[in-house]
Parts: sequence; C-alpha cells; structure tokens
Amino acid sequence: MNVNENTSSLFSVLTADNNELSKTVKNDSHVQADHVQDSLMFLIEKCESFFKYVSCQGSLLEKFGFTRDELEGKTLEECYTFEFAKRRAGSFMQAWEGNSVAYEDEINGIPYLGAVSPVYNSEGHVQQLQGFCVDISSWKQSEQRLKEREQYFRTLVKYHPDGVYTLDTDGQFLYVNPAGALIAGYESHELVGKQSFPLIVPEERENAKIYFHRAREGHVLKYEIKIYHKNGMKVPVEVTNIPITIDGKVHSIYGIVKDLTQSKEYEKELNFVKDRLSGMIQHSADAIAIFDMNDRLIDANPTYENIYGWKRRELIGFFVRHIPAELKESYYSMVENVKKGMKYSGIETVRIKKDGSRFYVNVTMSPLKDENGTICGYSTVIRDITAQKRAQEALHESNEHYRIITENTLDLINVFDCDGALLYASPSLKTILGYEVQPYTKSDIKKIIHPDDSNSMFEMFQKMLESKDSFKKDYMFRHADGHWVYLECHGMPVLNSEGEVESFVTISRDITDRRQTEDFLRKSEKLTVLGQLAAGIAHEIRNPLTSLKGFTHILRAKAEEEDIEYYEIMLSELDRINTIVGEFMMLAKPQPRDVKLNDVNQLLAEVVALLMAQANLHSVQIAFDSVPLPTLQCESDQLKQVFINVMKNAIESMEEAGGTLSVETKRTDEWISIHFRDEGCGISEEMLTQIGEPFYTTKEKGTGLGMMICYKIVENHRGKIEVKSTLNEGTTVTILLPVQKGYVS
Ligand code: ADP
Ligand code: MG
Repeated sequence: MNVNENTSSLFSVLTADNNELSKTVKNDSHVQADHVQDSLMFLIEKCESFFKYVSCQGSLLEKFGFTRDELEGKTLEECYTFEFAKRRAGSFMQAWEGNSVAYEDEINGIPYLGAVSPVYNSEGHVQQLQGFCVDISSWKQSEQRLKEREQYFRTLVKYHPDGVYTLDTDGQFLYVNPAGALIAGYESHELVGKQSFPLIVPEERENAKIYFHRAREGHVLKYEIKIYHKNGMKVPVEVTNIPITIDGKVHSIYGIVKDLTQSKEYEKELNFVKDRLSGMIQHSADAIAIFDMNDRLIDANPTYENIYGWKRRELIGFFVRHIPAELKESYYSMVENVKKGMKYSGIETVRIKKDGSRFYVNVTMSPLKDENGTICGYSTVIRDITAQKRAQEALHESNEHYRIITENTLDLINVFDCDGALLYASPSLKTILGYEVQPYTKSDIKKIIHPDDSNSMFEMFQKMLESKDSFKKDYMFRHADGHWVYLECHGMPVLNSEGEVESFVTISRDITDRRQTEDFLRKSEKLTVLGQLAAGIAHEIRNPLTSLKGFTHILRAKAEEEDIEYYEIMLSELDRINTIVGEFMMLAKPQPRDVKLNDVNQLLAEVVALLMAQANLHSVQIAFDSVPLPTLQCESDQLKQVFINVMKNAIESMEEAGGTLSVETKRTDEWISIHFRDEGCGISEEMLTQIGEPFYTTKEKGTGLGMMICYKIVENHRGKIEVKSTLNEGTTVTILLPVQKGYVS
C-alpha cells in the first residue's frame, strides 16, 4: 500500500479542492466550527526491534480512549492490537529510515491523519521519531457529504430540463447534460471533448467568442444566440454563463442553455394576436372608444368618427358629447358602475351625432384594467342599429298588418305542416266551419273533409311538396252543425331559406252561396232554354192535341164493345201528353198576372183539402199546423201549384208504407216558412243535388218537372226552397217566402 499517494490525494482534497468543498457546503455551520481539530503529538524511541512511546500529549489522546500513562514507556504491541501495531510499526520503520511518512488510520472509531518524521542527533543518526495526529472525522464526513452532494448535483444536472454544460477555458465541452445536447440534436457523448463554437451560427460566432472571453474573465453573462441543430435548422437559445473560479482563477465555464423556439413562437403569436386585435379595432364596424377614469376620451377608432361625425381631434381628451340630455343621468350612473368593475352589454339606447340627429345604438361598456388588475379606464363599443330597428319596426308593422288581416278576414287562413296537421287557423274557422281554433291532426281534418275530397286534398299537399307550386281547388267540409260547406282553397307552400317546403298556407273562401247561385244559374239556364223551347212548341202541340182528343171521343162513342178499351188508353195517354204540355206551358207562360194579397195559410188549407182524398187512398195522414201569417203579395194559383207538387211528392214517397205528412207554417221577421215533412223513402245525398233539374225523376210515371217548376215559381216570388233528407227516414221540404216584400216582377 502506497501510503504517500493516498495521503497526498487526501491532502489535495483538503487544500486545493477545499475551496470547492467549502463552496458547496458554505452554509454548513457544523463543518465550519470544526476547523480546530483535536490533535496529538508524540515522541518515539526504538529499542531493538520495538517502537516505544517516549511522550505523548494532546486532546486527541482522550478521544482515542488512552491516558498518557497507558502509552508513555509502552511498546506498540503493548498498546494496540496486533494488526494495528504491525501497521504502525511499518510506517515508523519508514520514518526511522529517514522518510517523512503520513498515514491515515482509525482508533476507537475516530479517523485521524498521522504524520511521523525522524529526529536526528548531532551525528546525523536518527535518534527519535516525532509524530503528529489530527482528528479528521469531520473532514471524512465532509468528504462523504461531498460525494453525496456531487451525486446529487450530477443527478440534478443530468435530468435538468434545461441544458447544462461545462466548457474548459478553450471552449471545449467538458460535460453536457442530455437536455443540453438534445437542443442541438445530439447525445451527450457526441459533444464531450468537442469545440463548442462550431455549434454557433457563423454570423453570431464572433459575438459568442466575445461572450466567452468575458465569462473567462470572471463575469456572469446571459445572452440570446442562435445555434445549429444537427438537422441544419437554426435554433434560438438563451445562454447563461457562470465562470467556475478555483483559487482566483477561472477553471471552467458553467453554462445553462434554454431553447427559445417555443417562447419565440408564443411571442410571435402574441404579437400576431395583438396586431389582429388592433386591426380588428381599427376596421371594426362597431364604434370603439376608450375613456380614462376622468371620463375623457383617450382613443377612438375610425368607425367612431364616422358614426358620430366628430373628427379625432375633436374627440381625444374631451368628455363624451353624444348622450341625449334626458339620458345623461343614466349614462353616468352606468359609467360609475363600470368604473367599479361592472360590465354592460347589448344595451339598446339612443345617441346623438354631431349634426344633432339621433340614432339607435346597441352599447357595450366594459372596464379596462392595467397589468396589476386595477381599473384604469373603460371602453365603449357602439353599434348603429337604426337600420335594424327600422326593419324591426317595419316587420312589426307588417306583422301587425298580417295579423289584422288574418284575424279579421272572412276567408279561412290555415297553416299546415308537411304532414298535413293544422298548425294555425284564423278565427274565421269558427264562423265558416263552426269549429274552435286549436291544432288539428291530419286525421282530425280527414273527419271533417268530404270523403270524396279527403284524398285529393292531401294528394295536393304531396304534389306541392315536390313541385313547390301553388294550387286552387274546391273542397267540401262538414260544418260543426252537420251541413256541408263548399270551400275554395288556394294553397301555397312556404319555403325556408334553403328552398325546402316548410309548411303550407291555404286561404279558403266559403263558396257555398256561390255554388248554390251557380247551381241555380245552371238550373235556370236549363229552365230558360226549356221555357223558350216550351213556348215555341207547346202551342203547336196543344192545338193538334185538342183535335186528336175530340175526334178520339167521337170515335170511342161509335166504337165496337171490344175496341173501347183501346180508346180509353188512347184518351188517357192524350191526357198525359196534355199534362206534360200543360206543365211546359206553365214554365213558358209570360209572368206576371193576377198578383194579389193572399194568406198563405188559406192557400195551404185549400191544397190540403184538395189532396186529402189522394192521401187517404195511400193511407197517408196530413197534419196541418199553422201560425198566423202576414198576407203576401203573390200569385195564388202559382203558389198552390207549388204546394200541390211538393205535397204530391211527399204522398208518393209514402205510397208503400203510409205515414204522416206534416205541414207547418212558421215565421221570422224576414221570412214566412212552410215545412212539408214526410216519413217516406227519403233522398240519397247525391240525388239531393239533382232535385229541381228538369226531367230528373225516379218514378215510372214521373215527368221530373214538378220540382223544377216549384223552384221557378218560388224564385219568382223571391223565395227559397231547401230540401233536407235522410234515406229511408223522410224528407223535409222548406219553402221560404220573404215577408213584406211580396211579389215583384
Ligand atoms: P216527379 O215527381 O215527376 O218525379 P219531381 O220534380 O216532382 O218529378 O220530383 C223529382 C224527383 O224528386 C222524384 O222523382 C223523387 O225521386 C224526388 N222527390 C221529390 N220529393 C220527394 C219526397 N218528398 N220524397 C222522396 N223523393 C222525392
Ligand atoms: Mg212530382
């Protein structure tokens, strides 16, 4: 074992590196207090082959657990264990041979450093050995701590997220941590031992050298520089250089390097955002102004100038001038709140322009804070909403118009969804169809639309969905009280912004009256044609008919017994022709004639009496029930003809089963009504519409002219005929005649 080497290395730690050590453990008060170590001085003699303590003294002695008496005058072998004594004897022997020897050992658990050197006599022979021991336990501890700390720092440095490196004074890498190497795209071992300058981009290399020199002179520096990445890209980095000084000399340079790429980009982004923001403010369609805490305008964007008409120089530094007098109080109370941190947005109010005109605005006011979060002013953002307001008002107005129209229209306005359910109905639903206004489903609607029309209407909707065209068609709906109402429907699809059908609107008009008028016109047209025809031919037929009848009578009187039957048939057929021609004549007869005041009850009573015989024949009872009626200007024979026709039809309808024909008169302020109700076969719905058309008959011997004549006569009297009937239950024919109006030609 080479003790000398060991010792010198330890000494170097204690001396040269002591700076480092004390630096690292600078704050360790325990180590500093230990600068005065326990020591021991001794003298040794050699007797034959044994080394013997002559004297020893020092504080370390006690620590070692000895008294002076226990050592002085004793040999090593007497004092120590065999092994220890042998070790010491070795070092002492070297000293006896003329060397200065240092050794490190341990007694009683205390590490100590020993040094022993020869003491020569006047003849130049070694006479004694003198020695010195010093307690190094605290240094030992420090050494241990140093090791630990070094390990600790190494680990710290190795895993430090920033790059950490050491350069020697020539700029070569002594150490680079992985993070540092990675910034340049390398691994630590690729850089250690290499020059650092080639990593710097050429244009900044000179600067880097200047920085390096300054660090070498002992200055701590921080600078930004660009380095090359292994892949050739330039990487901006921030470098901190700390010179490491040992014994007042810069020994190496410690560096911390940070990759700035990201933060640079953030900065760029931030600037971009800032630029964009100010660009947005500059070009914003909203007027933006900033006020200080004294309510003076500090800045305003161009829109602000444009909206208000004041130039910048008339605004900056001035108080706000565009608040209508009556709003000033509320404006300043808002301002006070904003200064306390409140924010207003979307306040609709009025502002004044330079020219004094007022306009609608939408105002947002927010407090402005400085970097410490203290409110230092406020901003106002103003949007001119005059156009919007006008449009709103116009819309409201037109909505109001539409509302008034739809709410008050006599027509029925409906909105259906695409499935055919009713979404909206105008209040006229109640007046036209008698139903309450409420949503109806498609099947609800199907219940009230005429079965013949139901499919056709929904098919029409389907067609509209595809073609997006409007349509016009007539449909029949059942009124809440049961009768049918004709509606002329005008339907149109409502398109949304994408051009798709969203719903349907139908506007329907009650055309029941018109339909009746049309029917009437149709009938009366037939009547007129028929009337003209009749007028032309009736006379021509009547005359020959008279002679035919007369001569048949004469022939019958002379006829053989077996031929009489034929003459009878001929005569009855001639009568039949005569009746038909008679009825034709009635149609064609020029009116008016014989208009007088008549009591309708009286006329009815006469007809009832006349038909009683025929009724009895078919076991039909006639019940006549009357209320007093005003007299009417009318043609009695013609009205009687009507009553006869109607009552004959009623009796004929009960021919098979018998029954009661009730005749009843009623009156209202406007009308006299005569009701003929039978219990006969009734008329089917579709037949009902045909009643009154010429030649419409269901009877073998019928002419199909009776009802037609009735309509004609009643209409001539400005009255109406209504027929209601249920198949197999009976029919009610109602004749309405206007009161007081009488007969007008
Ligand atoms: P006609 O009696 O000659 O057939 P009308 O014009 O008087 O001709 O009547 C036309 C048709 O109307 C009749 O054939 C009959 O089918 C129907 N009709 C009229 N009144 C009644 C009634 N009270 N009950 C049932 N059917 C009726
Ligand atoms: Mg008839």
